[in-house]
Amino acid sequence: IIASQLVIPDEINVQWKDIAGLDHLIQELRETVILPIQKRELFADSKLTQPPKGVLLHGPPGCGKTLIAKATAKEARMSFINLDVSLLTDKWYGETQKLAAAVFSLAVKLQPCIVFIDEIESFLRTRTQHDHEATAMMKTQFMSLWDGLITDPDCTVIIMGATNRPQDLDKAIQRRMPATFHVPMPNETQRERILRLILSNEPIANDIEYRRLALATEGFSGSDLHELCRQAAVYRVRDLARDEMQREAIQSTSNASTSGEHKESEDE
Ligand code: ATP
Repeated sequence: IIASQLVIPDEINVQWKDIAGLDHLIQELRETVILPIQKRELFADSKLTQPPKGVLLHGPPGCGKTLIAKATAKEARMSFINLDVSLLTDKWYGETQKLAAAVFSLAVKLQPCIVFIDEIESFLRTRTQHDHEATAMMKTQFMSLWDGLITDPDCTVIIMGATNRPQDLDKAIQRRMPATFHVPMPNETQRERILRLILSNEPIANDIEYRRLALATEGFSGSDLHELCRQAAVYRVRDLARDEMQREAIQSTSNASTSGEHKESEDE
C-alpha cells in the first residue's frame, strides 16, 4: 500500500518551472527547507540550526500545495511518500498502528525523504474528550514516531502537511511544524502568470489577451484556471472534429452521387 504512494526523486514529475506566481514562497522554501538538506554539514553544527522536521503548507484548495511539496522533494533530491490519511483512519487500530510505524521506517530507510500528508487536519485535528479511544491512541503514536525523527539530528525525514483549515490542527502538531507557509489564492498578476504557463505549449491564437483573462477570473484558483483552459481546449477540438465530420459527410454524398451518375451512363 505504501509503496504505491512512493516516488523516488528521478521520477517526480513536478519542478519549480511548473509552478507560476509563487516565486517569493519558493525562495523562502529554498532557504528554510532545501538549503539545510543540501548543506547539512553547515546546519548540523548547532542545535539551533537543525533543519525543520515538520513543514505546514496552508491555504485554499487548488492553489498549488501538492505541486510545491513535490517540487521541493525534486529539487532537494528527496524521496516522496504521499501518505493517504484515510489509510490511517479507516482500518482497525492494530493495523493502523503497524502501518504508521511502517511509513516512518520506510521514510527513514529512504532518507532524505518527504512524507506528504494532504488534509492533515482531518487526521491530526484538535484532540477532544469525545475522541474515540483508538483515534486518540493513533494520534499519540503518530506524534511519538514523529518525535523520534525530531530528536535524531542525523535524520533527514520531513513531515510536510497541507491543509485548508490550519485552525483545526492540534496545537501539539502545530508545534512540530515550525516552518509554516501560506499558499494564497492567486491575485490578478499571479493568475496571468498561471494562465501563461498552462497555455505555454498549446496551439493558441496569437491575440490572446492574458491581462483581460486574468482580470475576468477573479476568485479562480490555479486548479480552476487549469480547468477553464482545459474546457476551452476541448471546445476547440470538438469544433474542429465536428467541421471535419461535416466535410467528410458532404464529400461522401458527392462521391455517391457522382458514382451514381457513372453507373447510369454505363447502363445506357
Ligand atoms: P488541494 O488542497 O485541493 O489538495 P492543492 O493546493 O494541493 O489543492 P494542487 O493539487 O497543487 O493544489 O494544484 C491543483 C492543480 O492546479 C495543479 O495540478 C495545477 O494544474 C494547477 N495549479 C494550482 N496552482 C498552480 C500554480 N501556482 N501554478 C501552476 N499551476 C497551478
